[in-house]
Amino acid sequence: MQETENYEICIVDNAKHPLDEGRLLRELEPATRNLIKADYPTAKVTDFICDHHLLKYQLLRVDSLINTDMKQSKKISRRLTKAMQSDDYDIIDVNDTLNKSLTVGQRVSDAVARFGGSWGFIGIFTFVLVAWMVINGMQLFGVKFDPFPFILLNLALSCIAAIQAPIIMMSQNRAADRDRMNSENDYHVNLKSEHELRILHSKLDNLTQNQLPHTLEIQKLEIEILGQIRNELDDIQRVQKSEDEVDKNQ
Ligand SMILES: [Zn+2]
Repeated sequence: MQETENYEICIVDNAKHPLDEGRLLRELEPATRNLIKADYPTAKVTDFICDHHLLKYQLLRVDSLINTDMKQSKKISRRLTKAMQSDDYDIIDVNDTLNKSLTVGQRVSDAVARFGGSWGFIGIFTFVLVAWMVINGMQLFGVKFDPFPFILLNLALSCIAAIQAPIIMMSQNRAADRDRMNSENDYHVNLKSEHELRILHSKLDNLTQNQLPHTLEIQKLEIEILGQIRNELDDIQRVQKSEDEVDKNQ
């Protein structure tokens, strides 16, 4: 080969190499360049490294990329596992808990409130009222225990209203208990979901912001390494061919 000016000195072993058998440091990825600079602090961006020695640093770079990614994923997975384990709140079965703790009085008050709030109750009550007034007003069957204006009926209605109000309130208290337990359950479930969602977010962020670019960089390095291997193969074939020709000529 005549073009002696196209030779460069490899920074690693100071051997002479043709320009196309290596790269200048400024052509390399900053991360790979930094790896070389760590071993050769005096290296400048105009320095040259041959493909053979570059391969070692490219593999180192691939290695460190994979290691960082794995470390990061492990860290996030650990956080997720920890978050799942640290949740010691048991979701309350509201219906079960309330039904088990019901006393006889509470059951009765529930039944009364249920019946008091039905069309059946209104029908029966209206019928009783009308019957009371008709019987006493028209003196049917000769009965007249509460003549007009039905003062006894008034008293009875007042008594029923007075008793019914606290019974309905008792039932409503229990409805409030149920709401409170439900909202407590909801609160804890929301809290847990939010926590897990945040970790999932960081997992996704790590995937898109770190791992994906790293994967692309690894692919790029792989392609470069393959290109270098191909170049070396070409060289070997060329050398073999010329050796064969020398053999033939002899
Ligand atoms: Zn070299």
